Amino acid sequence: MSVVNFAQLKTVVDLPPEAERLLAKPEKEIHFSLNLLLHPLGLVEADAYVVYHNTARGPAKGGLRIWPSVTLAHTRDLAELMTWKTALVGIPFGGGKSGIALDPRSLPAANKTAIIKEYVHMLWAELHSGAYVPAPDLGSTPSDMAVIYGETHLLESVTGKPPRVGGLPGRREATGYGVAHITCLACQEILGQPIAGRRVAVQGFGNVGEWTCRFLEERGARVVAVSDITGGVCTEKGLGIEALASHARHTGGVAGGEGDAITNEELLALEVEVLIPAAVEDVITGQNANRVRARLVIEAANKPITSEGEAMLQQRGIPVVPDILANSGGVIASYVEWRQAKSGAMTRAEETYQTVAEQLGHAFGRVRAVVAQRHVTDRLAAQVVAAEELIATMRDRGWIPG
Ligand code: NAD
Repeated sequence: MSVVNFAQLKTVVDLPPEAERLLAKPEKEIHFSLNLLLHPLGLVEADAYVVYHNTARGPAKGGLRIWPSVTLAHTRDLAELMTWKTALVGIPFGGGKSGIALDPRSLPAANKTAIIKEYVHMLWAELHSGAYVPAPDLGSTPSDMAVIYGETHLLESVTGKPPRVGGLPGRREATGYGVAHITCLACQEILGQPIAGRRVAVQGFGNVGEWTCRFLEERGARVVAVSDITGGVCTEKGLGIEALASHARHTGGVAGGEGDAITNEELLALEVEVLIPAAVEDVITGQNANRVRARLVIEAANKPITSEGEAMLQQRGIPVVPDILANSGGVIASYVEWRQAKSGAMTRAEETYQTVAEQLGHAFGRVRAVVAQRHVTDRLAAQVVAAEELIATMRDRGWIPG
């Protein structure tokens, strides 16, 4: 399953057949097995994968996912997503991803460390040459990235490291910062209103959701509702995000926080200016999209809207800012961390935020120009901008005819 619909894309972009062929398949896939005799687990045999989708623009960049449901096909989809994101936001990376099919929750810490060291040994050439640069993803943490660095001794071989181990100030909150920044730009440009005073509902209060709420509150938005796996809360005057975060830390979720109780489904149907799904895939579908009353939807999670859901929103005139634009703050910060590692310079959090804002602002401007000129959705426009970048880069490299 490709991230883009090439037939639809070709109605707007002059996509050379050679470019389509190269973008429709991964460049390289490695399937290997991590086999370790560990105490107390016994012999662990885990399938593991690395996919380079397209490296025309630079090293294959994408997280290491450690989760029981990891497969080659899903790793391939995620690598492809990175190709489109990195091209759209103009950073010198290609699309990659790696995965280990294991449940990290069942692993004693020392066993997880041993498995990651073995992963580095198996991928020695990829990681030492800089051809593939991992980062944290579902099931892997900044400390796991520190283990990778400990094996390679190359700071630029991995991003998302803890700040004390060559990591980047501002990296942890960068995706949420980017979502908040894009929300401000979209509110002004699409709704013609500043974010200050606007009502926002956010589904998901993990890394992305919480930081999105914090940065939006800082910019004067009224975050009137938040939900997570435990339930949700809402209040017309706006939730206090610090108090809500403290409640969630102590109780394990936002349910029971100050405000009226609300379900996830009710949150999606609230009358607000902006709705931000920041939790999981497929929450706005053909079944519930007719109940959405927000004026604008920002996709902070990956793929939170199904194609049926999106068609219904489009019919009802509710614009959607797509995931490949809205949640790319994290990979932009990864680029800043990689640049810091290569140069040896130190970076302040404000510089990280500034680069995220600049790259996202530039991409947003290009996407909106395509929307205005070609009368297409923001999602298709984002794919158009990324495709044009990828075509030009592959021509520059002599991969496709000029
Ligand atoms: P996380 O695990 O930190 O948080 C997930 C949140 O979603 C939690 O609050 C959880 O309670 C909630 N949740 C889970 N299942 C739910 C359900 N069925 N209904 C309602 N809420 C539910 O994850 P995250 O890092 O914040 O990532 C969130 C999304 O953003 C994912 O789609 C992820 O792929 C995407 N994303 C994350 C990053 C990043 O830098 N962390 C970057 C790009 C995209």
